[in-house]
Amino acid sequence: MASTIRLFVDHPLGQAQTVPLSSAQAHYLFGVMRRGAGEVIEVFNGRDGTWTAEVIEARKKAGVLACVEQIAPQRNAPDVWLLFAPIKKQRTDFIVEKAAELGAARIVPVVTEFTNAERVRQDRLQAHAVEAAEQCGGNYVPEVADATKLPDLLDGWDASRRILFCDEGRAGAADVLSGLPAGPWAILIGPEGGFSDRERARLHSIDHAHPVSLGPRILRADTAAVAALTLWQQALGDWT
Ligand code: SAH
Repeated sequence: MASTIRLFVDHPLGQAQTVPLSSAQAHYLFGVMRRGAGEVIEVFNGRDGTWTAEVIEARKKAGVLACVEQIAPQRNAPDVWLLFAPIKKQRTDFIVEKAAELGAARIVPVVTEFTNAERVRQDRLQAHAVEAAEQCGGNYVPEVADATKLPDLLDGWDASRRILFCDEGRAGAADVLSGLPAGPWAILIGPEGGFSDRERARLHSIDHAHPVSLGPRILRADTAAVAALTLWQQALGDWT
C-alpha cells in the first residue's frame, strides 16, 4: 500500500473546504508521486488540525483538493524555542529538521562571536521545517526566525521565558532538568567554537538563564541540539 502523503497548506481547512495547491505541490503530488483525481491525502495548516482531502483537480502545475474529514485535532508544540548558532549548511539543515521532529515551537538562528557560518537563508530553513513536519506526522510547523545577534536577542528578552543555556564549560555529570520550573523556555546552543568568555559571563549573570551540562563529552552543536531538546521534552515537554 502506498504511504499516505501529507502536505502543509497555508489555507483554511474545514468541511468540504477546497484548497488550491502550489505549483511545487502539484508537481510533487501528480508528477513525482503519480497521484491523481479521486485519491485521498492528508493536509494540515498549523491551525485546523489534520484533514483528509480528496484530489478534485489534477493538472501539471496546479491542482485543487477538497477536505473530507478532520482526523486529528490541532496539536501545537510545547512552548520551547531552539536558539542555535548556525554551523555548516548541512548540519544547520539537520538541526532545523530535528527541532521540527522533536517538537520546538520556534527556531531562532543566533549569531554569536565565534559563529562562522555563511549567511543563513530563512526561507530555505523554513522549507526544511515544513518538510520535517509533513513527514513526522505532526500538524504544527515551527516558525524559523531571521538570524539575530546574541546581544540583541538578550537585550530584548522577555524574562518570563527561561533560557536553558547549554554550557560546554559545565561538561561533566549531566544536569537533571526535572527540577526546573514549567512554562515557556528557550534552549541555547553555541557554535562549534563554543561561547566566548564575554558571552558566557553575560549568560551566567542572567537570572532567567539556567546553565546546564549535557554530559561528560563535548558534543557537536547538532548533536547538542538533539540531546538538549530530548532532555527538555522528557522533563518539561509533551513526551510524558
Ligand atoms: N569548541 C567548544 C565546544 C562547542 S560545542 C569547546 O571545545 O569547548 C557546541 C555547543 O554545544 C556548545 O556551545 C554548547 O552549547 C553545546 N554543548 C556541547 N557539549 C556540551 C556539554 N557537554 N554540555 C553542555 N553543552 C554542550
